[in-house]
Amino acid sequence: MTNKLYQLSVPHQIKVSGLTVDVVRKDIKNLHLAVYPPLGRVRVAAPLRVSDEAVRLAVISRLSWIKRQKSKFTNQARQSAREFVSGESHYFKGRRYRLNVIYQTGTSQVAIRNKSTIDLFVREGSDQAQRERVLLAWYRQQLKGLIPSLIAQWEPIIDVKVSDWRVKQMKTKWGTCNIEAQRIWLNLELVKKSTQCLEYIIVHEMVHLLERRHNDHFAELMNKFMPQWRLYREELNRSALGHEEWGY
Ligand SMILES: [Zn+2]
Repeated sequence: MTNKLYQLSVPHQIKVSGLTVDVVRKDIKNLHLAVYPPLGRVRVAAPLRVSDEAVRLAVISRLSWIKRQKSKFTNQARQSAREFVSGESHYFKGRRYRLNVIYQTGTSQVAIRNKSTIDLFVREGSDQAQRERVLLAWYRQQLKGLIPSLIAQWEPIIDVKVSDWRVKQMKTKWGTCNIEAQRIWLNLELVKKSTQCLEYIIVHEMVHLLERRHNDHFAELMNKFMPQWRLYREELNRSALGHEEWGY
């Protein structure tokens, strides 16, 4: 037993048998081990007085369970590959919808019906890539419609200016910020998340205009502007989309 108090709430990583483990110290009694989708991130929340070595031993004792969890997520990810056919689940603004594909001769379009269905109107004979393109174009348009008012709302609060913003598909990040150009990029996938999650990423990227790095100062600013930001981060990290973890 050591009397050293490990640093509170600054996550770091340790390697255990080739496994990367995120460790966060909290004022808690017991050690919590969890594996998160979609990639099987392993996270340990440890009491303040538990050393990294003790965390390592705890992880080793549960290695087979962790591996089972990870392979479960890998299978889920494989099964959730989309074909853009009727009956599939698709997400929009944090809500799950059933996709209904309608083949017709008119213009391709997308419509939400009964808060439960996404009607996807496509030309006769449209293949999977064409169906996907129509839905993604609609997603992009919807997301672009949400962003300007959120930026405008937060600019006076954070006291920064965003000169430009763009939407793109990104594999590993929800957003990025080009500080010199005062430009933020937002992941198209955010359209599938609750508007609060989108807002959190926008605020996060805007706060980078005040603090480049993910340091204590950054966390302080986030706490000040959006005290609930950790909840939104958890919500994003829980989701089973092809994403790596979002650190802050
Ligand atoms: Zn960041």
